[in-house]
Amino acid sequence: MDPSRVMRVEKAGMAESMQEDLESLARGGFRCRLCHVTVANKPSLDDHLRGKKHQRLESLRSVRQAQELRSVFVSGFSKGTPASELSDYFQAYGEVINVVMDKDKAPQGVYAIVELQDKEVLEKVLAQPHHSLGGQKLRVKPREKKDFKYTQPRKQGSAKREQLSPKKLAQELCQADDVDAQMSLLVQQFEFSEGERRLRDLLVTLFQEVFLEFFPGSAILPFGSSVNGFDVSGCDLDLFLDLEKTKKFQASTKSPAEPLAEDVASPEPDSHSEDSILSDIDLASATTPEVLELVATVLQKCVPGVHHVQVVPNARRPVVKFCHKESGLRGDISIDNKLALRNTRFLQLCTETDERVRPLVYAVRHWAKQQALAGNPFGGGPLLNNYALTLLVLFFLQTRNPPVLPTVARLKELTENEEQTVVDGWDCSFPKDLTRLEPSSNTENLCTLLAEFFHVFGDYNFASCMISLREGQPLPLPGVLESTVGSKLKLGPFNLQDPFELSHNVAANVNEKTALRFQRCCQAAAKYCRSLQYQRKSSKGKIWGLVRLFQPGTAEAETPAATGLVISLPLTLASLPAQTRKQLSQAGNMHQCWFQKVCSSIAFVLKDVLRCDCLEAQEGSEREGEAVTECKQREQQTEADAEQPSSAGHKRSLDEEEADLSSPAPKRLRTDTLSPEGESMTWNCAMWRRVWLGRRRVRRQLRGPQPNSQCAAGSLELEAKVSEAISQQEGEARPTDPLLQFTVHARTGADSSGEQGMRISLCFEPAPEQAAAFQEFFHFLQGFLPRAVEQHVVSAT
Ligand code: ATP
Ligand code: MG
Repeated sequence: MDPSRVMRVEKAGMAESMQEDLESLARGGFRCRLCHVTVANKPSLDDHLRGKKHQRLESLRSVRQAQELRSVFVSGFSKGTPASELSDYFQAYGEVINVVMDKDKAPQGVYAIVELQDKEVLEKVLAQPHHSLGGQKLRVKPREKKDFKYTQPRKQGSAKREQLSPKKLAQELCQADDVDAQMSLLVQQFEFSEGERRLRDLLVTLFQEVFLEFFPGSAILPFGSSVNGFDVSGCDLDLFLDLEKTKKFQASTKSPAEPLAEDVASPEPDSHSEDSILSDIDLASATTPEVLELVATVLQKCVPGVHHVQVVPNARRPVVKFCHKESGLRGDISIDNKLALRNTRFLQLCTETDERVRPLVYAVRHWAKQQALAGNPFGGGPLLNNYALTLLVLFFLQTRNPPVLPTVARLKELTENEEQTVVDGWDCSFPKDLTRLEPSSNTENLCTLLAEFFHVFGDYNFASCMISLREGQPLPLPGVLESTVGSKLKLGPFNLQDPFELSHNVAANVNEKTALRFQRCCQAAAKYCRSLQYQRKSSKGKIWGLVRLFQPGTAEAETPAATGLVISLPLTLASLPAQTRKQLSQAGNMHQCWFQKVCSSIAFVLKDVLRCDCLEAQEGSEREGEAVTECKQREQQTEADAEQPSSAGHKRSLDEEEADLSSPAPKRLRTDTLSPEGESMTWNCAMWRRVWLGRRRVRRQLRGPQPNSQCAAGSLELEAKVSEAISQQEGEARPTDPLLQFTVHARTGADSSGEQGMRISLCFEPAPEQAAAFQEFFHFLQGFLPRAVEQHVVSAT
């Protein structure tokens, strides 16, 4: 193609897209949709358009679009075909710039994106009705066109950014100038890298292409944190498979005699599709689990690089879960979740409305995760999920004076007729963009807003009202119940109404304990936020601002849960038969023997009774070293707290308690309670099933009406069977990844020198991102483990 022609075409395209990029706002302002930038007037707009950011994004967009326009999507070649062979094949039509294919070849259905030199070569390729390679018929289609989306300039690099260690994050945050800068930095640290966003885009394209083959007219639409403005590196990929058009297509092509007429034009011009898969199912009458099974089959067999596919039919919104092997990305596909698409767009709109929304939500989410209050990665459980927590922040912003965000009712008023949207009977109307939204006149900075968030919710009575984002105020419960009569509205200790599905309390899973902890943590955080340590950068290199707020458990120091994940086993030699005691005391190294016995009982209970994978860690590894140090600190804290029940009185105020970054904890800890030579042992553990849930019921079932003597109540044998039964209930195949990964460190505690006393402390350290999910299991262990270990120790000696 003549290069000047390419230039002309691209320039014309640019002028057109420039028009689409710009939006006039009220009071003479403008918004650049490409860069997500709002400016006050025309001269500022001109500056922006001439500026580096706009220029860079425009050229990036034209490069991407040009790449898309000259690429084809190729499938049908056999497994193991190297990229070079495809490249050689398409070279016959013109130059091939690049071939992208998944390295991990699925048993069937391998796909590639072939980027050709230009559109002319592409047209030649597409004009050829039949392609074949190595005796296999190739299917060659143009690539799906996608809108270019602006993402903040981020570090280039791997698909998943290296997660900063908590220490490194703390160091970086401490270098910022003020809390507002810390919050912006936090967003930069957590949000997707350019590579990760690209990977997700590519995966979505791949899914789209594959599903189109099998479900003509279908669309794959991402929602949730990948696209709602609150992306965190490594978060799951939530996808919605829209089968509406496929259903229509199926209805139009089906005749009772012939399940699917091959020659009926499909919504996609793909006449040789494998859409005969539709002959196995009638989408209009099939149940959701049936359709999901089919979706799972397509995923498993035909999408390269996808594994651990699992249908979860009983969730509130049934899904197919999957994992992308190479990147480790986990995702869900649902087919019945249009409301989530709409609430995702609502969250996006909020982030676009005011630039304080994102940093505030990231800060609150991280704080809540660190305090094990929210961010439940496995769903279920008594913690707030990220969606609910985000709504709470948005509600808070609606209730500032003047408001930072409009209420949903106000958004509805600003909605034009053609934008009115009803999903599943719920009014989900709001403007499609910001054109008609008045900018907020609230000028509070982030530092103040965060402190106020804690202040407001520290005093909130979550149980006595329903938080309504639609009205931007709490609603009295009797009124809410009346207006949602007949619906399944679940009230509880924490009531937060979905902004659209008004009969849905998004925090219905939160239990009393979590609600109370949430409030207490808010109170403690509000108190800290009044201190200078929060408000001002330390000139002496001490931790300040968000860093102190994010320390796990610190904000909650007045509650018992602040004592860390330590379980103390109060085992005494006195509990042993006299003979065994005598043998041990004769062994010379009595404590060591005793410790080893208890450790093997701990391992037995974890492995054989609770079905937890449990590997003894190698001595001296760095990881273990860290675990030991941290464990010692927590353990000492636990002991110190235990000895000082009225610890509130002894506790230094948060203001006083400035800890040095390089050695944050030791200052607060007692160092005289543990003998440095104490015994210790560490295990790395993985839990695959929720064996801690519903044990009582399963126990009752197993014991039956007439308890048999071989499986006595409370026996470890019975407990092992309970775990096994729960595991089987959860499904035959092991889930994709362990539910929980954690380290357990056992060591002898105080008074281990006396003959009678021998306290062993178990310090649990969950994987950093699982702190919240781990709480529930830990809570169970606190009750279960000491009894079970003691029982085993006694029976084994
Ligand atoms: P993350 O995955 O980082 O925890 P997320 O927002 O993607 O955050 P998910 O639990 O994956 O949270 O849920 C995906 C999306 O599904 C949410 O963003 C929201 O749009 C919708 N969603 C989740 N939970 C609810 C709920 N309880 N009620 C209504 N919609 C929900
Ligand atoms: Mg998600």
